[in-house]
Amino acid sequence: MRKQLAIFASALALCAGTLAIQASAQDAAAGRTASYQDHFDAANMLAAQDLAGRNLYDCKTPPVSAAPTGKPMVAPPTKVFDQLYYLGTNIVASWALVTSAGIIQIDTLNNTDDAQNIILADYKKAGLDPSQIKYIILTHGHGDHFGGAKYLQDTYHMHILMSAADWDMVAVGAKEPNFPTPPARDMDITDGQKLTLGDTTITFYVTPGHTPGTVSMLVPVTDHGVKHLLSFWGGSAMPRTLEPNPSGGRADSGLLTYKQSFLRFLKIGEDAGVDGFIANHPYRDQTYIDGKDDKLTKLAARKPGDPSPWIGRSTYIRYMMIGLECLEGQIAWIQAGKPQAVSSADSSH
Ligand SMILES: [Zn+2]
Repeated sequence: MRKQLAIFASALALCAGTLAIQASAQDAAAGRTASYQDHFDAANMLAAQDLAGRNLYDCKTPPVSAAPTGKPMVAPPTKVFDQLYYLGTNIVASWALVTSAGIIQIDTLNNTDDAQNIILADYKKAGLDPSQIKYIILTHGHGDHFGGAKYLQDTYHMHILMSAADWDMVAVGAKEPNFPTPPARDMDITDGQKLTLGDTTITFYVTPGHTPGTVSMLVPVTDHGVKHLLSFWGGSAMPRTLEPNPSGGRADSGLLTYKQSFLRFLKIGEDAGVDGFIANHPYRDQTYIDGKDDKLTKLAARKPGDPSPWIGRSTYIRYMMIGLECLEGQIAWIQAGKPQAVSSADSSH
């Protein structure tokens, strides 16, 4: 019964979203552009109950950080697909993708301490051998993603991949005080590049926005042997200005470029047949929020025959549409001169 209600709520949200989109289309036909509030309202309707939460923080004006504050909670290391493990906290994610010829580690948390006490400790608990890590993929050049990479590189000597633009950005940042020490520059990720290790091929896309060279990717997995394709959007927090902000080690490409990249990656995912998603912050994909109401909890309660909590095409599309509506709303809010208004992100619909 609960499940039926949840499905009904999802269907209702899709209807509401469709209505909002239709309303926008009518507005456009009538020569009226949707206001920032229209976009935020659409995001709220699309979120329904199941996707409400920190993704809607992007719909607040003025914008606020979606990251939880306080002491991080460390998640139990968890095998979420036949070859994919979650290793991280409730604030930032890392993932280990186990192939037939070694491990691809995606992101490395904040620092050496996290590399030792979370990533390597989790490898041990999960029965994974860190000497089998052949590649580390860094989604972008922010310290909470590359901070543990130098220690892992110095200890296990795997290859490390990041986009050229973000290697350049961390090289600038490394000259600034209090900037985490980046790993030694190794391999560049290029747009459309494929990385094959054993039986697994990841495809990379350079999607500037959150940083000048944020990398997003398509990750193939199996769930009890059934194939799925995951979308992994590499940046999350949205820039605060329309145009690029080139400041040193924390540059972004502005909201307009972020939107171009986001729309492009949405289309790439559709063309490739994406049917699920993960993220590099666990409050985005809801992998780990509080150990009570998140996907790790749902996985622990999963019964034979239940779908994976990470799989669902319509949920994926709603997730991306929420991002797009908040993005469009932020752009419209800036273009309207940043009026002070009460955000709808907390209101209930
Ligand atoms: Zn970042």
